[in-house]
Parts: sequence; C-alpha cells; structure tokens
Amino acid sequence: MKKQHFDYIVCGGGASGLLFLKALTEDPFFNDATILLIEKETKNSNDRTWCFWEEEQGAFDSIVHKEWGTAQFFSKSLHLEFDLTPLRYKMLRSQPFYKTIYDRVKKTKNIKLLQTQILDLQSKGAVTQVITSEETYESTRVITSLYDHNALFQQKKYPVLQQHFMGWFIETPKACFDPTKILFMDFNIPQNQETRFLYVLPFDETHALFEYTFFSEKVLDKKVYEEGIEDYLKKKGIDTFTLIEKEQGNIPMSCFPFEQANTPSLLHIGTAGGWTKASTGFTFLNTNRQVHRLIDFLKKGKPLNEFTAKNRFRFYDLLFLDVLSKYNSKGSELFERMFAKNDPLRIFRFLDEKTALWEDLLILASFSFQQKKWFIYALFRRFF
Ligand SMILES: Cc1cc2nc3c(=O)[nH]c(=O)nc-3n(C[C@H](O)[C@H](O)[C@H](O)COP(=O)(O)OP(=O)(O)OC[C@H]3O[C@@H](n4cnc5c(N)ncnc54)[C@H](O)[C@@H]3O)c2cc1C
Repeated sequence: MKKQHFDYIVCGGGASGLLFLKALTEDPFFNDATILLIEKETKNSNDRTWCFWEEEQGAFDSIVHKEWGTAQFFSKSLHLEFDLTPLRYKMLRSQPFYKTIYDRVKKTKNIKLLQTQILDLQSKGAVTQVITSEETYESTRVITSLYDHNALFQQKKYPVLQQHFMGWFIETPKACFDPTKILFMDFNIPQNQETRFLYVLPFDETHALFEYTFFSEKVLDKKVYEEGIEDYLKKKGIDTFTLIEKEQGNIPMSCFPFEQANTPSLLHIGTAGGWTKASTGFTFLNTNRQVHRLIDFLKKGKPLNEFTAKNRFRFYDLLFLDVLSKYNSKGSELFERMFAKNDPLRIFRFLDEKTALWEDLLILASFSFQQKKWFIYALFRRFF
C-alpha cells in the first residue's frame, strides 16, 4: 500500500512538538513544506505549568500567567532574598500555550493535524515510517517527542534521578502571601535521606502554588506529598485554606545520551531528546532554544542524527548527578553552598549554560572541601 509522504512529520504535540511547529511557521523557508502533526490527545487543559527565567521581553509574554522579579532561597543556615534583574521569573500555564499554537497550526495551510495514537516509528534507510492504527506515514524528517523511558531505566552507566513533585494551588481567606517574590527552594523540611524542598509561587495575597519537590530516585505514594504540603502549610501558620487544584509530575534527571536513538531521518526532541536540564529538570526554555538551533540545522539538509545538543555543561550535570545520586541526603547542603558563595544571578546563568569557564570554576570552588572531594571522586570514576 502506498504510504503518505510528508516533508516533515512531528510526532507529539506537547511542549516541544508545539515549540518546534511555532518556529517552523515563523520561518518562510518552510512555507511550502508539507507538514504532518500527530497527537493522540485533545490538548486543551492546564495539565502542567512551565516556569522559566529570561530577560524582560520574551516570546510568550502575552500568555504568561504571572511573573516575578525577586526570589528567595532558604536552607538550614541560609536565608537569602535576591533581586532577579535583569531576569524575570515567569510562569506559563499549558492551556493558553496549547490554544495559541494549535489555533495557529489549524490556520496554516501546509500543516495537517491528525489526532491518533502512534503505534511505532521505524527508520528504514533514508526514511522513517510512522505507524498508526489507521495508516502509515513516511518522511525523511521525523521529529518526535514520544518518550520511552525503558532505555533510560534499563541502563546503569548514567545515574537516573527524578524531579518528582505534587503542587497544590490554594486560596486563603485572609492575606498570607507577598505576590512579588517566589520561594525558589526551601530546604527547611525533613529530608529523610533524600533531597526535598518546597517551591512556592504566590499569585496574589490569597492565592499561591505550593509544590513539594524531590530530586531522588523513586516516585512516592501520593500521601507522602500531600502530608508534606499540609505539614509545611501548618508550619507557616496557614491552617485554613481551600484547595483549588492539584498538579503532579515527574521529570527524568539524567545525562543518558538520548540522542543515540536518532537516525538520519528521525530526531528525538524535548524530554525524549534529552533536552531536560539534567541537574534541575527545567525543560521548557532549553527546548525553545534547541528548537531554534534545529530550525537552522534543518535548512542545511544534513542527516538528523548529526544534530547535537552536547556541550561542557552536560559534563557538569553528569558529575553533579553522580554526586547527588550517591549522596542524595546532601542535596540541600550542595545547593546551600552554591547560593551562599555565589551571586545568585551567576547560578541562574550557569543553569542557562551561559557562564564563562572561569565562572564555572568559581561555582565549583564554592563547594566545601568534603564536597569537592565527592566531585573529584566522581570525575575520577568517569575517566578510569
Ligand atoms: C506537571 C509538570 C510541570 C512541569 N513544570 C516545568 C517547569 O516549570 N519548567 C520546565 O522547564 N519544565 C517543566 N516540566 C517539564 C517539561 O517542561 C514538560 O514535561 C514538557 O511538557 C516536556 O515537553 P515534551 O514535548 O518533551 O513532552 P510532552 O509535553 O509530554 O509532549 C509529548 C506529547 O506526545 C504525545 N504522545 C505521547 N505518546 C503518543 C503516541 N503514542 N501517539 C501520539 N501522541 C503521543 C503526548 O500526548 C504529548 O502531548 C514539567 C512537567 C510536568 C509533568
């Protein structure tokens, strides 16, 4: 049977698939290309919130839910409040994001949108076939964000932690929050031999998101997160509140080379492509940056498996994860040293992979003697 051919097939219309399509539709180079987007779900809910930091003006400002200019970091012996200027910390809810991009996709003549489940992707020679229950499609450029965690969890070479969390959107009867500042990390909670913290985004004086977050190996029972948030709220004197909404997620934190699964005609993007910042779980803005690099790359007509997102920061992340997975109860102390000894803005730029080498060394130098020994040992283990 003849297979339908497209110049580009985008598998998965979540964050990365849509960021990629947005960039494609903004570039006249792709005006005549035939493009197929396959997504199994109707994407119209607030199934996640994306937070990121960037300089004042940004591509999503018209749909940003809330932004902040001040942040706090709390740990056992550090109570830090800092101005984020020139950065702004922004929160985007998924519903307006999906709506904006799906509306644009529907209006773009050269994009066909198909709601169905992809059963398999098979690269054969110079093409990749996309198999659905109804039909098979093929292209020399298949861009997929379908994430299969089996390869990640079946290997031992790269440690795998997860950023797993539950968030409660709450409303209080009286004013409890300062809506001008976020609480980026509060480690003043029982660590139970893991790395645990609270992350708080206040929207106004009576509304806030409290997210109980772990950087650890195993996802826990729902009850653990819920009790953790309740205890924290009590500790903060918030006894009466209405729970408006919940969100839950787990994001893989690993330097596993996801790109190994790419072929000349198949490229993994988003979480599936390893575009999640391994040491923090932040994905959204990194994906947006990679997508723009990808657009330039596609214009050169090179095989897709030549696209690489590797740099020296990936190696730092690898060492950090080696240390954090071995000494999971020490996460709060590692972050405390980083924030105590550096300008927080340098840390944000470091996480954005924008620091110079000398700044990276300053961050490394901020760890205690004992912590440095852990990193040197991890480095040694990676080389020998
Ligand atoms: C609750 C939550 C909050 C998060 N918050 C942040 C944050 O604050 N900042 C940040 O940077 N990152 C955050 N992340 C991490 C990351 O940004 C998101 O997970 C992001 O959605 C990843 O984008 P993606 O395109 O890789 O995956 P997705 O957005 O999950 O997209 C994959 C798409 O593929 C579709 N699909 C899957 N299988 C098939 C199939 N067989 N056939 C057809 N379609 C299929 C899915 O329906 C989905 O739409 C969060 C994640 C979660 C879960």
